[in-house]
Amino acid sequence: MKKNLIKKFNKKKNKHRTSMRQRCTLLRVVATCMVWLGSCVDARSPNLYQTLGLDTSIIDEKTLRSSYRKKAVETHPDKQQQQQQQQQQQEEDQQDDGSGAASMSSNRGNAEMAFQQVSEAYAMLKHKERSQDTVEDVYIPLNQILTKGTNIVVHYQRRTKVPCTACLGTGAPNGGSPSPTICPTCRGAGTSTLTWGCHAGQPCIHMSGTCGTCGGQGRIGQLCRVCRGVGIVEELREYTIEFPTGSLHHHTLRAVGEGDIANQSSRPGDLLFRLNVQPHPLFELMEGTNNLITRMEMNIKKLRTSFAMQIEKLGGERQGFLSFNVPSYPEMKQGETRTVTLTDFTDYGDLVLEMKAREEVWSFTS
Ligand SMILES: [Zn+2]
Ligand SMILES: [Zn+2]
Repeated sequence: MKKNLIKKFNKKKNKHRTSMRQRCTLLRVVATCMVWLGSCVDARSPNLYQTLGLDTSIIDEKTLRSSYRKKAVETHPDKQQQQQQQQQQQEEDQQDDGSGAASMSSNRGNAEMAFQQVSEAYAMLKHKERSQDTVEDVYIPLNQILTKGTNIVVHYQRRTKVPCTACLGTGAPNGGSPSPTICPTCRGAGTSTLTWGCHAGQPCIHMSGTCGTCGGQGRIGQLCRVCRGVGIVEELREYTIEFPTGSLHHHTLRAVGEGDIANQSSRPGDLLFRLNVQPHPLFELMEGTNNLITRMEMNIKKLRTSFAMQIEKLGGERQGFLSFNVPSYPEMKQGETRTVTLTDFTDYGDLVLEMKAREEVWSFTS
């Protein structure tokens, strides 16, 4: 019995190792929206949707079932073997050296693992409610986003809540049933508190310790050792995200099925990387565009005459200053504003200079 368990565990481990290439490939599919899984870390469990050949997590049970069936047929060891035998035969016909037997059996093992992975992914997705998408904010400086160049590469790490693969998210050993239930005494906390006194003006004594009902596990029943019966584990996942320069504020990149699961009876939603342009001391993005605006107060006398002005370029002092002429506004009144647009101020848009007339403001222009 024990031996079997160990065998099964090793099999699981091997399965994770051999499916690395598949995982890398499946995540490259997500790359249609420019999200890549940077280094495919060995500890990472598979993306459940893509294991079933799905490129979206917004699906119903029917789609899920038919995708599973299709993938199960595709990865079925017998079919795989049949194909390999045919291929082998062709090769053998060409060069008859008889070295094919060993590789045939290891291929059989790989095929079984792929097939098992498909079945497990289906078990972890079916009859579950889709979790909400998880949003991660990524901050990028304004000048970087508005300067033409290669994509802006961001490396991102996060701990993701995923179904425990050891128990297929059930919390019971080896994915068995029934799933453990939350301990009624401690309500899952694993500790319970007793209170003495606290009445008729008596002092209170709170005593806490390990819950006797569940032995501190928080759950009752046979528990999976990996997730301690919770059915959920946290996994460190790494991403390399690429935002093209010129992307708009709050532009999002979607990694299908990479979001957290909300609870044991839910399946993963997507992970959204949301671009946030870092605030700049001088310039502000105009909503929904890549155009900038800067607001300043100016001496009214100055505004009534034409004058030359300099403004610091986006990259700061290193980029130098831009000189231009401000036309005269003879009718300008206190508190009124005028705007000057400097077209193509950045690689991706204009700058709107909003000048507000103030009597008392000291003119800082030349
Ligand atoms: Zn308890
Ligand atoms: Zn588990």
